Amino acid sequence: MGEDFMLEIKDLTVYAGDKLIIDNLNLQINDGEIHALMGQNGTGKSTLCKVIMHDEAYTVKKGQILWHDKDLTKMATTDIAREKVFLLNQNPMAIEGVSNAEMLRMTLNEITGEQVGIFAFNKKLQEVCAKLNLPSSFIHREINVGMSGGERKKNELMHMWMLNPELILLDEIDSGLDVDAIKDVANSINEYYSLYKPTILIITHHEKILDLIKAQKVHIMKTGKIVATSNLSLAKKIENEGFNKTFDISGLDQNE
Ligand code: ADP
Ligand code: MG
Repeated sequence: MGEDFMLEIKDLTVYAGDKLIIDNLNLQINDGEIHALMGQNGTGKSTLCKVIMHDEAYTVKKGQILWHDKDLTKMATTDIAREKVFLLNQNPMAIEGVSNAEMLRMTLNEITGEQVGIFAFNKKLQEVCAKLNLPSSFIHREINVGMSGGERKKNELMHMWMLNPELILLDEIDSGLDVDAIKDVANSINEYYSLYKPTILIITHHEKILDLIKAQKVHIMKTGKIVATSNLSLAKKIENEGFNKTFDISGLDQNE
């Protein structure tokens, strides 16, 4: 059987209606490792993340998503969150009428099954905002309402720090951010990683963020499958040459 993977996705096949999006995908991440997932637009990277969280828009026709020996495909999203899985969405949704603080307290109460102490909670929120270079007014802002692209991503990182996940899916956290915001975001993730050693899957189009966040492996996704797995040099090659040139010859179907 070999290694014990914390996250093991086996033969995952997913449809949206009658459209095949994920096609027999296999992916394994060891405990506490950081892996990157790259691939052209429309190959199913975001869908994979949403399916891990059990988004009802998708039907799993085949396969398993094992996390700590639990099959997430058979679990409700709230229970998946209880298993300390966290998705930072590519396009974080705005939720009018609900503040960050309200949502985070409700969610923490829900996933821990305990009432969160308001004093410690507020103190931690203040600290997290300071760490992320967010004004403390963000604590009571409506979730993502009227926030810039960069602020939204940091706002989602605030949620990550408060919910304390062990499996973190970062879907294009660097897209649309300026250089300083990318550094803030990467520093925050690196600090979280050094404190808690979570397992991380980071989806990106740019090698830049992988210079700042050291992924041990890079997977390439193409039309719903992982077609190659390598180290960071692969991300560099893609940045320089583009996907088409890098994966020119007969699709590169074998894993390195
Ligand atoms: P990526 O994140 O790699 O750019 P996505 O996972 O967002 O790709 O999308 C993969 C493909 O699946 C795209 O062609 C997209 O239009 C399609 N798709 C994703 N979600 C749905 C859905 N709910 N209904 C129909 N098609 C979808
Ligand atoms: Mg996407």
